[in-house]
Amino acid sequence: MTYTQPTLPYANDALEPAISEATVNFHYGKHEKTYIDKLNELIKGSEFEDMDLEEVIRHAEGPLYNNASQAWNHIFYFFSFSPSGSREPHGRLREEIDRTFGSFEQFKKAFEDAGTGLFGSGWVWLSSDENGKIFITQGKNAESPITSGLRPLLCFDVWEHAYYLDYQNRRADALKQLWSIVDWDVVENRYED
Ligand code: MN
Repeated sequence: MTYTQPTLPYANDALEPAISEATVNFHYGKHEKTYIDKLNELIKGSEFEDMDLEEVIRHAEGPLYNNASQAWNHIFYFFSFSPSGSREPHGRLREEIDRTFGSFEQFKKAFEDAGTGLFGSGWVWLSSDENGKIFITQGKNAESPITSGLRPLLCFDVWEHAYYLDYQNRRADALKQLWSIVDWDVVENRYED
């Protein structure tokens, strides 16, 4: 199997001003492309060749895990955004957010704090377990909640390459702006699936 990079469902400048066109060009166009190219190189002729990507993430280690996970994480990240769409969760996911974190505002604060509090490179995740309980977790480097058996719902990339062109060292500002482009219809569908 050869993985191909899916085309984004919006123009590269559609997420401005939260994420600039230049950042989408580099981050999705170059960083993500490199992870996918490397993934294809590493699975070729290996026992992982015919697994789907989530299976590779569950079973691989080392460079293959890192590149498979980063390939998956970036698609998941960029497909969580849209220039239009619901800016707040509704339905069952909203109830679960309110129950777990007190309110949507408190959830956003806890998510941002987990992202700014992660030392070095990685991701902040919202995931659910098989009972529909939701959790915020931090993942270093390429780490994915899939490895822990959780279902990812939303992630923010806190690697410097995700925000440095637009926000330089101001990670907290970068994360705060992402709420203006999260498409909660997409996130809710992941929860309901
Ligand atoms: Mn990234």
